Amino acid sequence: MIYRCENGESTDRLAEVIRRGSAPDGGLYYISDIPDVSDLLYGDSAVLQSGHGGYNDFVVKILERMLPDEAPGISWGELIDSAYDFAPSLHALESEYVLELFHGPSCAFKDFGARFLARYLEADCRRRDEKLVILTATSGDTGSAVGQAFAGSDAIDVVILFPRGRISHLQEKQLTTIGGNVHAIEVDGSFDDCQRMVKRIFADQSLSSGISLSSANSINLGRLIPQMLYYLYAAARLSADGCDAPVFCVPSGNFGNLTAGVMGYMAGMRVSGFIAATNRNDVVPEYLQSGHFQPRPSVETISNAMDVGNPSNFPRLTRLYSDDYARVRSHIAGYAVSDEHTRETMRTYAERHGYLACPHTAVGLAASAHHRNANLAPSEATFVTLGTAHPAKFPDIVEQATQETPEAPERLSRVLRLPSQADTIDADVGALATWLRERFGR
Ligand SMILES: *Cc1c(COP(=O)(O)O)cnc(C)c1O
Repeated sequence: MIYRCENGESTDRLAEVIRRGSAPDGGLYYISDIPDVSDLLYGDSAVLQSGHGGYNDFVVKILERMLPDEAPGISWGELIDSAYDFAPSLHALESEYVLELFHGPSCAFKDFGARFLARYLEADCRRRDEKLVILTATSGDTGSAVGQAFAGSDAIDVVILFPRGRISHLQEKQLTTIGGNVHAIEVDGSFDDCQRMVKRIFADQSLSSGISLSSANSINLGRLIPQMLYYLYAAARLSADGCDAPVFCVPSGNFGNLTAGVMGYMAGMRVSGFIAATNRNDVVPEYLQSGHFQPRPSVETISNAMDVGNPSNFPRLTRLYSDDYARVRSHIAGYAVSDEHTRETMRTYAERHGYLACPHTAVGLAASAHHRNANLAPSEATFVTLGTAHPAKFPDIVEQATQETPEAPERLSRVLRLPSQADTIDADVGALATWLRERFGR
C-alpha cells in the first residue's frame, strides 16, 4: 500500500503514517495501490469456509498478505490477538443483515479502529523506546473508545478533552472512570472550544514543552485500515454461505467507516454497491444528487455521533474513485433520514423483529429499506446495514421510540457505579498548555 500526500509526496511506511496521523503538509494521507486479496476471500483458497473460521485468524491472514513488512516489531498475530477479544457478528433479520460492531469495550464500532491503533502505537513506542501522549477532543463516542483502547499502557498517556455538561451522563462516565494513564479534562466551554485548543497545541510547538504528542482522530489511517477488515470478513462470511456481493449500508458522519468499506472494494471485495446513510446533516447525499459538495455547520439530531457538517474523510472517499463523480455515483447511493423517520424505524424493528437498534443504526436501516423498496439494486442482492453502536448507549432515545428498555451489557452498567475523576480547566489554550507541562513536562 502507498500513502500519498496532497502535494504528491508518498511513503510506504505505515508506522510513520500512523505516528503522524495527518500528512506532513497538514492534510490527509490518501491511500493507493491496495493489494488484491480476493483469493483469500473467495473460492478454494478462501480463509473462511462455510460454517467456520474466526475473526482474528481471518484478519491476520489478510494483514500478512497486504502489509507483510509493516507490523510494528511484533507479529500481526500477536497484535490482533491482544487488540480483539471481541468480534463483529452478522445478525440475520427477515430479509437483511445487521453487521453488529458494538461488542467491544465501549459498545461502538470505533473500538475496532481504536484498539488496533493503540496496540500498534504501543508496540511501535516499545520498539523505539519512546513515550507518547495522545491528545484528543471528544463530543462523546470517540473519547471512550480511544480511552478504553489505551487504558493500562505504560508507554502512552491519553488526554481527553470534553465539553462540560454537553455530553450524555453515560458518555461522561465512560470517559472519567478509566483513570490511570487516561486523563479526562472537563472544559468549561463547547466541543468546538475543545477542538480549537487541541489544534492550537499541535500547531504551536512552544506550547507542548517538548512532549511527544500524537492524535487518534478519525483521519488516522491506523483507524481506517482495521475498519476495512470487518467489511472483508462480512463479505467472505456471506459468500461462504452462498450470498455473494452484498450491498453495504453505512450510517455516516465523518465518513471514515464508508471510506473503509470502499477500501475493501479496492482490495477485491465483491459488492453490489454502498449506501451512505446520514441524518439531516446531508452534505454527502446532496453531493451524490447534485455533484456539488457544500459543507455546512452541523445541526443537532438524535443520532448525534453523525452530526457532522464537513466530513473530514470525504476527499479520501472520492479519491478512491479517482475523483470521478460518475463513478462515485454509480457505486454509492445516498439517503438522508429525519429524526422522526429514525424513531419510526426503531419502533418498526422492535415490533416486527423484536430488534432494538441504536438511533445511528436505525438511520442505516431506514436508508437500506428505502433503497430496497426503490428496486435500485439487483433483486437477489443481500443488504447488510452496519450496526454502529449498542442500543443501551442511548437508552432514553430507544425507550422513547420503542417503549422498551435496552438491556445494558455489564461493561456499560459497570461504569455507572465507578467514581468519576476529571480535572476542570477554562476554555483557554494557555490553561491546557499549563496542565500538560505540569503533568508531563521535563
Ligand atoms: C462515529 C459514529 C458514526 C459515524 O461514523 P463515521 O466513520 O464518522 O462516518 C456512526 N455511528 C456511531 C454510533 C458512531 O459512534
